[in-house]
Amino acid sequence: MADLPSVTVPVGALRDYIAAIFTAAGCATTEGGRIAHHLISANLTGHDSHGVIRTPRYILWLKEGKVRAGQQIAVLHETPTHAVLDGQYGFGQTIGPQAVDFGIEKARAAGMAAIGLRNSGHIGRIGDWAERAAAAGLISLHFVNVQGGELVAPFGGVDRRFSTNPICIGVPTREGPIILDFATSLVAEGKVLVASNGGKPVPEGALIEPDGRLSRDPATLYGPIAGTHLRDSARGEGALRSFGDHKGSGLAFMCEMLAGVLTGGGTSGPIPGGKRGRIANGMFSLYLDPDGFGAADFAVQARAYAEYVKSSRPADPAVAVLLPGEPESRTRAARLKDGIPLQPETWEAIAATARDLGVTPPAVAMPNG
Ligand code: NAD
Repeated sequence: MADLPSVTVPVGALRDYIAAIFTAAGCATTEGGRIAHHLISANLTGHDSHGVIRTPRYILWLKEGKVRAGQQIAVLHETPTHAVLDGQYGFGQTIGPQAVDFGIEKARAAGMAAIGLRNSGHIGRIGDWAERAAAAGLISLHFVNVQGGELVAPFGGVDRRFSTNPICIGVPTREGPIILDFATSLVAEGKVLVASNGGKPVPEGALIEPDGRLSRDPATLYGPIAGTHLRDSARGEGALRSFGDHKGSGLAFMCEMLAGVLTGGGTSGPIPGGKRGRIANGMFSLYLDPDGFGAADFAVQARAYAEYVKSSRPADPAVAVLLPGEPESRTRAARLKDGIPLQPETWEAIAATARDLGVTPPAVAMPNG
């Protein structure tokens, strides 16, 4: 596989292809299109770890009944300012928008809302949800975990105790939203997945072996890679590390408290009975309407301050000071124009899944010179 060139696929063709795969696997056309849209949104922002590379796994989970097509959120508990929702193991790309829209509606009526979501299928790039709230004029904060999905060692430890637990904060401003969105692990698991497929290597110290040695080898997480098609973190003996030493580890812990314990979805820790079943995201979200805080000119003030931050003299004159979300906007603009680059193993794994479902891969993949 290493001798195959990577490919670059125009966005529209890739979207149609991925949507056709999900539709062939049993999703309604609208859901297939929605899943494709959100996966490709992750690729467009440069987060290939949460993009179409996930297609083979999602299809496997659908076949195994670990994620379900066509689900609706169930409202378990509700007041004017908060709610607990159950995603019923529906696709995160279906449950995510429903849960966010539920929060938006409440925050518009009451000025703010706190929404606990449990049992959602993988909700992908969390920035999508903050962007949705910002488009409605709202600030939002999101804390996420994966029930039973421990992959990350706590600060000072080697045994897995947290999932990669992303945190995302989005604010609307006059010239578009500013979105901070990152995993509390040094890299998201999907970045190890991308590296294991011949993509960008993970940074030094992203992983740790059971004996405490630092590692950047995807085999630390997945076990031996050669000859395997789908990566399985249950086969690896090591762990990811949290970012920022005790600070990132502490944030990961608090994601477990909010997204796991408070929502009722459960922590990343062992599932009673010891069986690791399905990937279920928990997400605790706060939605704030700036008007409700008397900050009617929030979008203007926020942008003015952002420009002031950007005016800091760069440490390296060749590297601009960027705002959170700016690298993603730049990548989106470039990829909308030039197409989405994919590693050959990623392209081939998707094609194998497509062929199994009777979907023909598009002939538009162009070898990158
Ligand atoms: P990352 O390390 O690339 O950090 C991204 C954040 O840092 C963004 O807000 C980005 O704008 C900002 N940033 C990057 N470079 C910058 C610069 N030079 N100046 C200013 N800001 C900069 O992201 P990650 O930790 O690898 O996470 C990737 C994605 O994975 C996220 O979208 C996250 O939501 C997603 N994720 C999802 C799950 C899940 O369970 N659903 C789990 C983990 C991660």
